[in-house]
Formats: sequence, C-alpha cells, structure tokens
Amino acid sequence: MAKETLGFQTEVKQLLQLMIHSLYSNKEIFLRELISNASDACDKLRFEALNDASLYGEDSELKISLSFDKEARTLTLSDNGIGMSRDEVVKNIGTIARSGTKEFFGKLSGDAQKDANLIGQFGVGFYSAFIVADKVTLTSRRAGETTATQWESAGDGEFTLEEVAKEGRGTEIVLHLKEGEDEYLSDWSLRSIIRKYSDHITLPIFMPKTAGYDDEGNITPAEGVEAVNQASALWARPKSEISDEQYTEFYKHVSHDFEAPLAWSHARVEGKQEYTELLYIPQRAPFDMHDRERRHGIKLYVRRVFIMEDAEKLLPQYLRFVRGLIDSSNLPLNVSREILQHSKDIEQIKQGCVKKVLGLLESMANSDDAAEQAKYVTFWEQFGRVMKEGVAEDFANKDRIAGLLRFASSHTDSADQNVSLAAYVGRMKEGQDKIYFITADSFAAAKNSPHLEVFRKKGIEVLLMSERVDEWMISGLTEFDGKKLQSVTKGELDLSQFENEEEKQQQEAAASELKDVLDKVKAVLGDKVKDVRVTNRLTDSPACIVVENQDMSANLERLLKSAGQ
Ligand code: ADP
Ligand code: MG
Repeated sequence: MAKETLGFQTEVKQLLQLMIHSLYSNKEIFLRELISNASDACDKLRFEALNDASLYGEDSELKISLSFDKEARTLTLSDNGIGMSRDEVVKNIGTIARSGTKEFFGKLSGDAQKDANLIGQFGVGFYSAFIVADKVTLTSRRAGETTATQWESAGDGEFTLEEVAKEGRGTEIVLHLKEGEDEYLSDWSLRSIIRKYSDHITLPIFMPKTAGYDDEGNITPAEGVEAVNQASALWARPKSEISDEQYTEFYKHVSHDFEAPLAWSHARVEGKQEYTELLYIPQRAPFDMHDRERRHGIKLYVRRVFIMEDAEKLLPQYLRFVRGLIDSSNLPLNVSREILQHSKDIEQIKQGCVKKVLGLLESMANSDDAAEQAKYVTFWEQFGRVMKEGVAEDFANKDRIAGLLRFASSHTDSADQNVSLAAYVGRMKEGQDKIYFITADSFAAAKNSPHLEVFRKKGIEVLLMSERVDEWMISGLTEFDGKKLQSVTKGELDLSQFENEEEKQQQEAAASELKDVLDKVKAVLGDKVKDVRVTNRLTDSPACIVVENQDMSANLERLLKSAGQ
C-alpha cells in the first residue's frame, strides 16, 4: 500500500499544540510515558500468549531497549511486546481522540506545571514524545503478523502511514530531537531518568554498555548492552527495602496518575490463598470515577506474570477508586476471564483485599496523628460519595463501612462532612436512643428544614444529608452501635423523654383544644393526606408534612420523579 497522509482529530491537534508549546518543565516525563507503553505492550503479549504460545516466535525474552545517536540527534526506544496492526495504529495514536481527551481539555488550568501533571491520567501519554521531538517515527509490527506499519508525524496536524518491513514483532519509536534538547543525547542523563521513573518496570531496559567516559564526558563505547533498571517486581521485594519514592513511582506507573498516592497497603497474605497485594488510595478522584467503564483499576498477576486488569472482579464497585495489584501464588497461569468470573479463589482474595483497604482507611481515620487525620479528610472529600455506596453494597462489612462514614450535622451546621456516627453517639443526650437524620435535596434545605426546629430547641443533634447517594445509603443503614437511625421527617416522633411534665400537659391540652381545627383541615384535604395531627415537632413553623416510617421519604420521591419514574 502506498504512503498515505491522514489528519489528526481536532482534540488531538489541540493536545499536540499543548505538548509542543506549553510544557517547559518536567520535560523528561516523556521517557517514562514511552517506557510505560512499552511495558504495557509486553504485558499484553504475555496475556495473549497464554492462549497462543506461538505469538512469541523465536523471541520469548521480553525487553525494552533505548539507544541514541548524537550525530543524527535521534533517540530510539524499542520493545518486543504485542505491537500494533495498521488499524490499531490508526485507532490508538491516530485520528480518534481517546475518550479521556475531551475531559482532559476541560480540566486544563493554563498553568503549565499543573497541566503537565494531568497528561498521564488522561491516556495521552504517547503524544508526550512531542515535548522534546519535532518529528516522531513509529514502526510497529503486531505479534503474529508479517508486515509492519510506519507512522510518522511532526506533530502539526497530520501523520503519514506506510507499510514497511520490520524485523521481529513489537514497536520502535524514533524521536528526532528538537534544537536544545541535547540532554537526551547523554548516556548519563538517560540512565538517571530511567532509574528515577522506571526502576520498578519488571522488564529489563537495555542501553548500550559504556566502558567509561573521556575528559569531555563522551562515552567510550563498549560491546553489547546492559540493563539499566533493577527489573525486579517491586511488590515482591521486602517492604523494608522499598523507599516511599519507589512506592510512589510505582503507583504513578500502575495508576497513570501524576500525583503521589494518599496511602498504600502492601502485604503478603498467607493461608488458603497466598498472594501479595499492593493497593493504593489516590489523592484525587479520577475524572472517570463515575464511569463504569473506566480504564484503570487493579491488575492481577500470577507469580509475577501479568494476567489482566480488571477492577470489578478484584474489588467491589464502591472501592473502585483503589489502584494497584494483586499477585497470586496459587492461581493457575492460564486463568481466563470466564474462570475468574466464578472463581471461589478470586472471591476469597477479593474479601481479603476489601479488609485491607478498610483497615487502611480506619488507620487514617482513627489515627492520633494530625497528618493522618488530614489525609482522611482529603479521602472523604474525594471518595466519600463512593464509599457510601458500600453500605448498601457490601453487607458483610456494613458495620466497618458505617464507622468510616462522615456527615454534616446540626452540631456544627457546616456543610463539611466531618461527623462520624461514633462522634454522634458520644454526644447523644441522656435518654436518647436513636440517631436522628434528615435527607433533603440540598444542604441548605436540610439545615433549614422546619423538621429540625424541635431538635434544635432540645439540643438534639441531627445529621444533615443532602447527596443523592444518601437516600440509597440510608436504606441500607438501619442501625449503628445498637442505635436505630431515625429520619426526623418520618412517622410519629416520640421525644417525650426530653419533655417535662408541664410541656406534656400543654401538648395534651393543645390536642383537645385544636380538635375542631384538625377536623376541618382533614375535611378540606380529604384524600390527599392520611392524617392530620398536632405535633411537638415545630416551634416556629405552623405546619409540616410527615410520612409514615415505612413510606418513601419526600426527598426520595422527588429524586425518583426527577429521574422520570
Ligand atoms: P495509554 O497508555 O494511557 O493507553 P498512550 O497515549 O500512552 O495512552 O498510548 C495510547 C495507546 O497506543 C496505548 O493504549 C496502546 O494501545 C498504544 N501503544 C502505545 N505505545 C505502544 C507500544 N509501544 N506498543 C503497542 N501499543 C502501543
Ligand atoms: Mg501510556
């Protein structure tokens, strides 16, 4: 097929403009991105080869190689991973903007440093090559195919495609470096970038051997290549040998996040199921957290061989923000998606990991250390809404999840969700046996509800709930610490234990005095209401609507109506 020229989609063009013109700091991250793609490509090959070992051909040692040519001003990165067919090249790095690209643009702040940090998270890693290159040539041959595709672009809106010959499968990327980017033509700086960002990559990253340097810092060439990184699975090393920086770099690699994680749990679990888990909690919710088809999650390994990335089977939905990996020692290497679906072993691993994550959150939430507590506040701000789903989703761990919940409350009247159920219980009045809450469609509506009047007067705290998920959560949470949760808008409120004799008498007197009025109101409202009662709920407002305990709350009814039900 003859050489063709194709145009990038608008979003890709914009992205390239950003790469080329706005990223001045932290340019070296392009190398991490390309190495990360090469490593992903090798993982994919391993996975496909589980069903078809012939994909390896003669070449089963997966690796990444980096070399440079000072004269030609080129940097070449190659891998013998899965490679890409022509169609895949077009799809992955061609005309079509990946789903994250649009959102990426929505998040740009104009601050180059911050914007650079967003790149990896949105799956736009490959284009970071244009931060340092004015022309990029990619040649890729898919495992099992005989011809290769060459993609070339100067990042200016177009790219060319051509069928070429390539020895062996995999992908080779040649960066033609811009004027001034000489740093990446130095053996020493390339090695230090690899060690800094890619030491945890489990494949060897080879560079030409050097015998030493002359007085001007030029390399004295030597025969052969050598691995620059440690190439051992980080999670398999003892904790004591792993620095926080290494944990952080590894997190960035597995999560495609550019920020450091908030916390992590690393443990080797022994027993019926033997596995290692390394699970991270991010600092910030990813843009696609509410998208059920999000791309990154938990990776499953079997004895250090990558099997698949599939968050759903390895952790429940309400922990979908967790990133990291599980490496099993006793699953068979040839596990398929179908087997995983019904695997008891996976179910046990999943249960174990849920406990680890909950334990990690509890240790932050209950810590005496202010820094840890602050982390929990950040966590709740970012992921509280998702955690609330757990109450209804994970019956077995409901009590632990309930302990992690945080609410706005009439105690502070602030919209900040920082009151735990335990703190509420600790402040309960003498004789109070219920945890009172109100759900409404906004914080202001909850806070100013007439239903709260009597509680305020008597100094009884009420939790103020105004998120959509709260209705769903509260339907699953009927009790905490032996105390029932009670909506202040439902049923007959019995607050008699907080009333003195005089108040009780007033109440009774009012009820008999107002009997005629009640009968009139009932007659006028007819079928629209079940009953009309005198209440001690209100102090300032004349009337309010109440539903029976077992009925849908007025707020839920509104929500369902707005959802067209
Ligand atoms: P991401 O890695 O987040 O998917 P990138 O922009 O880094 O986004 O890469 C886009 C896609 O291009 C990858 O998902 C992959 O399908 C493909 N790709 C990039 N580099 C390689 C490579 N070395 N080998 C095979 N496929 C690659
Ligand atoms: Mg990538």
